[in-house]
Amino acid sequence: MKITDLKVDVLRTPEFHLRADASLESVIVRVYTDEGIMGFGDAGSSPRVIRSIIDAPTYFTLCRSLRELLIGRDPLEISAIWEELYRMTMWAGRRGAYIHAISAIDVALWDIMGKALNQPVYKLLGGAFQREIRCYASYVMPDTPEEAARLAGKAVQEGWPALKMGWFPCASDPDLDLAIVKACREGATPATKVMLDVGPRWDITTDGRPAVQLWDAKTAIKRIKSWEKYEPFWVEEPLPADDLDGYRKLTEAVDTYIAAGEQEVTRFPLYELMDRGNIDVVQFDVCRVGGLTEARRVAQAAHDRNRPWASHCYSTGIVIMASVHLAAASPTYFYVEYTMSESKLAHELIYPLLQPKNGIICVPEGPGLGIELNEDLVEKLKVN
Ligand code: MG
Repeated sequence: MKITDLKVDVLRTPEFHLRADASLESVIVRVYTDEGIMGFGDAGSSPRVIRSIIDAPTYFTLCRSLRELLIGRDPLEISAIWEELYRMTMWAGRRGAYIHAISAIDVALWDIMGKALNQPVYKLLGGAFQREIRCYASYVMPDTPEEAARLAGKAVQEGWPALKMGWFPCASDPDLDLAIVKACREGATPATKVMLDVGPRWDITTDGRPAVQLWDAKTAIKRIKSWEKYEPFWVEEPLPADDLDGYRKLTEAVDTYIAAGEQEVTRFPLYELMDRGNIDVVQFDVCRVGGLTEARRVAQAAHDRNRPWASHCYSTGIVIMASVHLAAASPTYFYVEYTMSESKLAHELIYPLLQPKNGIICVPEGPGLGIELNEDLVEKLKVN
């Protein structure tokens, strides 16, 4: 079998606005073969940047065209292809958006392999440690404690045993934070796992522009200790991603699990977060870190260090389903993120529709990722 072409569609919802919701615009990468099998993936990245990267021609020996490298290759040689794409795009790639693009391609290749062998991806990854995958309901944090309590109560009513709220207005005002954390706990049940995502710590200045207010380790320790009576299950990204020594101080000082890693690409910075930063929950986005090939290496590294991993998913159902396959084939996953965004891209781009029951998605048994694209929605939302 040979790869014959790639196609990139950028999809944008009409209700797009700048908000902490990356599922309002998405990119779908399809890989075609000469045997009529097509695989697809998405990227947790800026959609039009991904399209530009895949369409970019060769510029230099170490800045080759991804499309040219792929056409004519056997799509089943996934690890060899990953290494070649990584090495031959080093100048512009190595970290950042090139790896996001490779992530989408890699997920598409696993989908192709599953379809070609008539097996679900989780079996290609080594088989199931579990088939029922725990997910948590992930909300953009509302502005008020009352709304946080309402959303937490709604998640519980819908059967979610675990939920997360994060970003605005988290981490700017200690009193508001504490009130929101308390409201989340009281709106949920004592048994509900409540995760908190500190996010980018933005304040809005008087001229309406966002101003980043980073925490340091001492601030994070003080603030998280003040939240601990409400038993957060984990606190996510309380420090800048590069403050590895701060993460170590923090994880040694608080009882709460500290989660981090969604911004990282390739396994190497995640090793640093685990080993120097000593983080408790290893977070990565399958469609950002380097696809299933690289995510599998990170999951194995987490397992080797006896740390749980949790996936970041905030684009489409494709990344959720890729994460579900990896979680099924991994002994130490904690949770897969399930976005509660109202975006059609988050919930209607694939079928069968993801319909978690009591926070569980069962890993599909169909070939490949076990999902199909909703082509009507693609046609409706694409902005090519
Ligand atoms: Mg996060």
